[in-house]
Amino acid sequence: MAIRMDGKAMAEKLRGQIREEAAALPRRPVLAVVLVGEDPASQVYVRNKEKDCVECGIQSQGYRLPAETTEQQLLDLIGTLNESAQVDGILVQLPLPKHISEKKIIHAIRPDKDVDAFHPFNVGKIVTGEDGFLPCTPAGIMELLKEYRIDIAGKECVVVGRSNIVGKPMALLLLREHGTVTICHSKTADLRAETLRADILVSAVGKRGTITGDMVKEGAVVIDVAMNRDEQGKLCGDCLYDEAAAKASYITPVPGGVGPMTRLILMKNTLRAARAHLEK
Ligand code: NAP
Repeated sequence: MAIRMDGKAMAEKLRGQIREEAAALPRRPVLAVVLVGEDPASQVYVRNKEKDCVECGIQSQGYRLPAETTEQQLLDLIGTLNESAQVDGILVQLPLPKHISEKKIIHAIRPDKDVDAFHPFNVGKIVTGEDGFLPCTPAGIMELLKEYRIDIAGKECVVVGRSNIVGKPMALLLLREHGTVTICHSKTADLRAETLRADILVSAVGKRGTITGDMVKEGAVVIDVAMNRDEQGKLCGDCLYDEAAAKASYITPVPGGVGPMTRLILMKNTLRAARAHLEK
């Protein structure tokens, strides 16, 4: 039976470190958190991020804007936050209402305040392997792998999902650590054939049952990124957990695996942004 990778416990441990480092700075790091509209899931995410800020000694500045906010109004707010010497990081909660271009908004955030690492400048740095902000979910997964002393060099790494937020940067970070990386997506001809080769399998699809036990190689490390709801409304991942855990050596649970680490990296990135601004 697989060892359960406890992202919740690890995030709690690291949160204490961030709190100490933040307290040692001449002023508290500041994260601007922007939410447009009333999407219930986004409201929960934003509340959690603000709670994390409190626990890490980071000051959060909340901006709750109505769903009718125009693209220009949001761009104006980002312009103000970009210029403010008081703001270290800017987080715009996605998805945005349909009439606002996410691409335009992401491009408007100054790269040195882009704590989500979605701006093409920061994405480019991930591609070339330069030091910079790392995207929260993939970076959280890399920290989990490190904590559990899982070697990546030379391993077959299969990432299921190719979103800009999870799949693609995940593949790049695994490649950076010398994994042999395959990216799968909805057009992959034979998903099972690909996943069965994986020493490290990362699933970020968003459909429960995408990964069944017969798709997991004996002894594989299984990282389940997804956050789905089952028929009872209970939070679950892409993997059928019990089946996958019976084959895997390590596995992340949902909840309590990748999610808490994602939240922690946002705090880490904000601390990093504050340090850089204070050194200027
Ligand atoms: P997304 O943008 O919807 O991407 C899903 C990916 O899965 C796409 O690349 C899609 O392929 C691929 N896919 C869909 N059906 C497939 C299939 N049958 N076989 C193989 N690939 C398939 O989602 P996302 O933003 O990356 O998020 C993925 C999941 O992770 C969601 O459940 C989300 O809630 C969760 N998530 C969790 C965290 C966390 O902190 N735990 C953070 C972010 C996201 P195509 O590109 O071909 O369409």
